[in-house]
Amino acid sequence: MGGKLTCKQLTEVVTDYLEGTLSFLDRFRFHMHLGMCISCRRYLRQMKYTIHTLGQLPSDPIPPNVREELLSRFRNWKRTTT
Ligand SMILES: [Zn+2]
Repeated sequence: MGGKLTCKQLTEVVTDYLEGTLSFLDRFRFHMHLGMCISCRRYLRQMKYTIHTLGQLPSDPIPPNVREELLSRFRNWKRTTT
């Protein structure tokens, strides 16, 4: 990863973040993005809830259908954010 995180990149590294395997710099970028992006804060909350519900992290890599589901929810959040 280079430069600022995009929302898509954040969704790609969120499991690494939650597992604590991101580098210091990547974690910093992650928090920088969260600080300015309410959609991703909601996304992170949803991910934590999902993990809590499953009792574990989703398998990595996330199956494409699950990722699509998450991304479509994510897009819905963005649409409802005013
Ligand atoms: Zn974002």
